[in-house]
Amino acid sequence: MRRPLVAGNWKMNGDSESTVSLVNGIANGRGDVTNAEVLICPPYILIPRAADALNGRDDISLGAQDLDINESGAFTGQISASMLVDAGCKYVLAGHSERRAIYGESDQDVAAKFKVAQAGGLIPVLCVGETLTERESGDTETVVARQLQAIIDVVGIDKLVDSVIAYEPVWAIGTGMTATPEQAQDVHRFIRNMLSALSADVAESMQILYGGSMNAGNADALIGMQDIDGGLIGGASLQAESFLAICRSAN
Ligand code: PEP
Repeated sequence: MRRPLVAGNWKMNGDSESTVSLVNGIANGRGDVTNAEVLICPPYILIPRAADALNGRDDISLGAQDLDINESGAFTGQISASMLVDAGCKYVLAGHSERRAIYGESDQDVAAKFKVAQAGGLIPVLCVGETLTERESGDTETVVARQLQAIIDVVGIDKLVDSVIAYEPVWAIGTGMTATPEQAQDVHRFIRNMLSALSADVAESMQILYGGSMNAGNADALIGMQDIDGGLIGGASLQAESFLAICRSAN
């Protein structure tokens, strides 16, 4: 039985004060959510603030939004897996569409980050998804399969199980244009079938999240679909109440 996971990607938002207040707000409402895992991914510099505010409680996990493939040394501005672990992170996003589109991360770059994250003891949340043009050309499955295969080629199917997949149609991220539950389920089922062809066990246990304008109003219908195991939430993760409402849907 897969446990649902709701993850908040705060992106480049917040400051010390808002971080403490958001963490406290989520922590205060977390008690109602006994059957779902909860993860927050603040900007790097606010991770220690969030860790302090969590004050040792482990029912809300911490994650980062990116990492470097190098361990240490002359890589100005970068952060390594071991630094994230040291700061209290358990998860790290890999291949978010903003990293792919704005910072030019290729499938191979994402695979290298995925591998380094796992080697460093982090659980990668691998983001995959098509652009609107790709969907309209009928290429959704081809794109998602390519993004996933790039990781499997590097780490192998057996290591994939120590990760989370997030299907995030690029056209739905931050746009208010959510995929319909059926559209999302179709791609989630496609991903699970692709995994199943390689390992039934991995396919069965893999948490596959949906991301893209998920909010308190649409979470029930999306997370209610058979192959949707929770959400990766951007905008709606910046307010405790809307994030908690999605957590309750997953619960
Ligand atoms: C995201 O950035 O991963 C995301 C899903 O954003 P939003 O919920 O704002 O669409």
